[in-house]
Amino acid sequence: MISAVRGTRDILPDQVERWRRVEEVARRVCSRYGYYELRTPIIEREELFSKGTGESTDIVQKEMYAFDDKGGQRVTLRPEATPSIVRAFVEHSLEQSLSVAKLFTLGPMFRYERPQKGRYRQFHQLNVEVFGVAEASLDAEVMEMACTLVGELGIDESELVINSVGCPDCRPVFSEALLNALGGDLSKLCGDCQRRAKTNPLRIFDCKVEADQSTIDRLPHSTDYLCDACRGHFEAVQRHLRLYDQPFRLSHRLVRGLDYYTRTTFELLSSKLGAQNALLGGGRYDGLVKRLGGPDRPGIGFAAGLERLVLALPDVNDQMVPDVFVAAIGSLAQDAVFVLARALRAGGLRTLVDYEARSAKAQMKRANRAGVSHVVILGDDELAAGEVTVKTMATGEQCKVARDKIVDVLLSAS
Ligand code: AMP
Repeated sequence: MISAVRGTRDILPDQVERWRRVEEVARRVCSRYGYYELRTPIIEREELFSKGTGESTDIVQKEMYAFDDKGGQRVTLRPEATPSIVRAFVEHSLEQSLSVAKLFTLGPMFRYERPQKGRYRQFHQLNVEVFGVAEASLDAEVMEMACTLVGELGIDESELVINSVGCPDCRPVFSEALLNALGGDLSKLCGDCQRRAKTNPLRIFDCKVEADQSTIDRLPHSTDYLCDACRGHFEAVQRHLRLYDQPFRLSHRLVRGLDYYTRTTFELLSSKLGAQNALLGGGRYDGLVKRLGGPDRPGIGFAAGLERLVLALPDVNDQMVPDVFVAAIGSLAQDAVFVLARALRAGGLRTLVDYEARSAKAQMKRANRAGVSHVVILGDDELAAGEVTVKTMATGEQCKVARDKIVDVLLSAS
């Protein structure tokens, strides 16, 4: 047997209904907030991510599925969608055709990470991005929309956590303060932290190594080093969240793993997910569009992990129950069931048939196993009379119905 690649998963029929529910609610909510869907390719040039996501990130350093294609071009399976959406926004000058550049996409991402529950090498995200608006009211709306989406999925017990990581003016001051505060303790931190201290000191806050935590807990907070403009922006974000009565918690450790974030960062955490507890995460990235060759436009967005939304989704009865089984009894009816099945399907009913001309008993057994609500029996007598027999599985009752009334009868019964 050839098994699936480690870290990838088949989404089996009994799970697909849950996925579709998540995708449908995502599309519906995005549309209500004025977002347009776009779909970008799964392969992109590698440099899109080294420039966009950032050279110092784990994604670019360790996790990309990058390779030379047969023409010698360096490409990669996309590890995230934000740089792709920025690329499409710039490449197609979407600013000119869209009144507001609010975009979303749904699709698979690829990262060579250590697989565990809620973390895979091929996973799926909903990505939501807005270009061109710097105001804090948008930050709050984006977060409120994320919470609404999760709420409409019926996922409760989620918590919005927010922070501000400042801008290119105040972040260097904070980075320096971090390194000063660490001083000689830096050499006691893990190898990853020592690397982060050189490339992007803020990311030391991402460290999960137990022994490092007491040192990291003593470090200064980014919000104490914000410039006046960033502080005003962050206060306005919080004020707008309060306008929505949207609860949130401040966390100075929420710096997020990507290099491009400026000002607001946020995550929505779920208590139901275990160690990988972030349903979604995002923030503002005001310099990214320009860095990727576009106009100087601010940006903000988030990515939600669909696997995690599906995991946290409450159970509802989403068994795939076919509605009808058409059973043929007798030799004359054998061909007629296929024509009848086509008519039932055209009428909107989920319809199963037996292809192997089995006995009446075997067909009833199969209908039972399929969990249908009704069996439509077509025997030689019924055929001659222009009728069918309908058996209601729940009660065992049977009645005769004229053939041209059967769709209406079944539709009103289901
Ligand atoms: P990121 O793109 O790293 O900001 O992650 C945004 C969201 O995507 C996270 O909050 C997760 O819900 C989800 N996510 C990120 N990486 C993975 C992964 N390897 N497997 C499953 N979900 C992921």
